[in-house]
Amino acid sequence: MEEKIARLKQAAADKIRQHADTLSALNDIRVEFLGKKGEFTTLLRGLKELAQEERPRIGQIVNEARGQIEALLEKKKEELHVRDMEEKLANEKLDVTLPGRHQWRGHLHPLTLTLDRIKAIFMDMGFTVEEGPEIERDYFNFEALNLPKDHPARDMQDSFYITEEILMRTQTSPVQARTMQAHEPNTPIRMIAPGRVYRRDDYDATHSPMFTQVEGLVIDKGVRFSDLKGTLELFLHRIFNDNIGVRFRPSFFPFTEPSAEVDISCVMCHGKGCRVCKGTGWLEILGAGMVHPHVLEMSGYDPKQVTGFAFGLGVERIAMLSYGIDDLRLFYDNDLRFLRQFE
Ligand SMILES: [Zn+2]
Repeated sequence: MEEKIARLKQAAADKIRQHADTLSALNDIRVEFLGKKGEFTTLLRGLKELAQEERPRIGQIVNEARGQIEALLEKKKEELHVRDMEEKLANEKLDVTLPGRHQWRGHLHPLTLTLDRIKAIFMDMGFTVEEGPEIERDYFNFEALNLPKDHPARDMQDSFYITEEILMRTQTSPVQARTMQAHEPNTPIRMIAPGRVYRRDDYDATHSPMFTQVEGLVIDKGVRFSDLKGTLELFLHRIFNDNIGVRFRPSFFPFTEPSAEVDISCVMCHGKGCRVCKGTGWLEILGAGMVHPHVLEMSGYDPKQVTGFAFGLGVERIAMLSYGIDDLRLFYDNDLRFLRQFE
C-alpha cells in the first residue's frame, strides 16, 4: 500500500513537471489525481478494506501525499501565471518610434471669418449683436418695415412663402422691429443683426437663393445723417483699408428716408476702371438711410423724440472683395481645395 502511494505521488509529480504547460492542462492533472473519481480518492475509499489498526497510519500517508501534490499544483500554477504575464508584456510592447497618425485640424469658413471681422468692428463702436428667426412672419419681414401687402418693392425680394403669413426671411431687417418692440418705447438702440436670408434667385457666380446679411440700426436722441456717414466710413476703412474711397448715392428703400447706396472705390483697379467695377471705378457695397418715421411709429417709438439710421450689407460681397474671390458658389460648394486656403 505504501509503495502504491509513493508511486502515485511520483507519477503526479512527473506529470506536473512534464505536461502541465498550460493552466487547463494543469487542471486536467488535478482532476486525474485529486478529483472525485481521481486516483487518490479511490485510494482513500480502499482504506476500509484495510485492517482496523492499519487505517490511521495509511490514511495519514495518503493525506500527506495529497498535500504534497496540492502544493506542487499550486506552485506550477503560479509559474504559469508569471509566464503568461511576461508573454503578454513582451507581445504588447509599444513601439514609440512609429510615426504618428496625421490629425486634420479644421478651421473657420471664410464667411465666418469675414462675419467675425465685421462683428468685431461694430462691437468696438459699442454695437450689440442681435438675432432673429430665419422663418419669419410677414408682419416683421415686410409690414413693420413700411412694406404693406400691395407694395411694389416686395416684388424685388421674390420670396419663399410657407403660408400666406409666414416666409423664409428675405432680409435681416425684421430683427430691427423685433428689437425695438422688445424695448420700452424710445430706448436707445445700437445693434447689428447678422444672419442667413432667403430669396427666390438664380444660383450663379453672383447670385444665390441663400446668403448672409448684416443689418445695422442706431436709434437715439439727435442721430443725424452725418452719424450714418461717419459710422459707415469708419467701418469700410477698417474692413478694407484707410485709403479706400467711399461715396454715397441717393437711393430708395421703403423703410428709410432719405436713403443711400454706398460705394467704395474699386479694390481691384483702385478707381481706374476694370471688368469687376464695369469700368466705373466704384463698387456698390451696402444700402443705408435714416429710419423712416413711420417705421419708428409702428414699433412704438416717437419720431419727434428720437431719430435713427439703418444699413444692410452682404457678407459674401465683402468676403469676395477682400479675398479677391470671383465666384459666389465657392463659399457653398465645400471644395476643400478652396477652403484650405483660409487656414
Ligand atoms: Zn475696378
